Amino acid sequence: MSGAPAVDTVALALSVARQRGVPRLDALALLSDVLACPRSWLLAHDDAPLALAARARYGDLLARRAAGEPLAYLLGTKEFFGLALAVTPDVLVPRPETETLVEWALELLPVDRVAAVVDLGTGSGAIALALAQQRPQARVIAIDSSAPALAIAAANGLSHGLAVEWLPSDWFGALAGRRFDVIVSNPPYIATGDAHLQALTHEPRQALTSGPDGLDAIRHLVGAAPAHLQAAGWLLLEHGHDQAPAVQALLADAGFGEVRTRRDLAGLPRCTGGRLA
Ligand code: GLN
Repeated sequence: MSGAPAVDTVALALSVARQRGVPRLDALALLSDVLACPRSWLLAHDDAPLALAARARYGDLLARRAAGEPLAYLLGTKEFFGLALAVTPDVLVPRPETETLVEWALELLPVDRVAAVVDLGTGSGAIALALAQQRPQARVIAIDSSAPALAIAAANGLSHGLAVEWLPSDWFGALAGRRFDVIVSNPPYIATGDAHLQALTHEPRQALTSGPDGLDAIRHLVGAAPAHLQAAGWLLLEHGHDQAPAVQALLADAGFGEVRTRRDLAGLPRCTGGRLA
């Protein structure tokens, strides 16, 4: 051996990430995925050399992360409510703020009798699967208009052994005549002209935007939900941080009572719901 320093080590890989503006935790997650070893090992062996193939694979992932691709798509997985879910660019990446919606729905779903709940626009299946896991006796239905999204959701259900009825449907389209105790949805709610969208170009547009004020889907859901709720049933909706007053007004106008808003972990008004009077 010539004693030449290793040109590429774990430490160097992490410092390259820093130079490219990729957060250290993201870089560690990518490297741990590429090398198939835990982060703790990486931290304890940051002088370990990287094989050529690993270097190339890491370089590619790092460049994609630096260009804004969500970490969840690069890893192919995202944790939501304690469940590891497969995700691809066909589905929105599940976000922590949506756990607020799940917690609210869980308070409304009885533990001691069967109740029916539907998740509209389920994407990866995140909300439906969290509910199915926490309320095994509930009847959980989930719809999405995207066939590729529904395939991912169903695969997530299989891998966790959770029973959900997955239906291809444009909102309530395939649910004629069916009524639920609780309807939940994290619909698209970003206004089509919102500057925030520039940071979200990798995710499906149909899961994000909904008309000039972002409220088209929510208006439709509020209008159509009463025909699909049992007496005194609840409709819970996620929305943008500045949309709570508008969503409250829509629910009140549609005849919902007990209208209230809940804040997410960041303290932002994030979900509004009401009970069919
Ligand atoms: N919460 C997401 C965001 O603003 C949007 C999700 C949605 O439109 N349902 O990044």
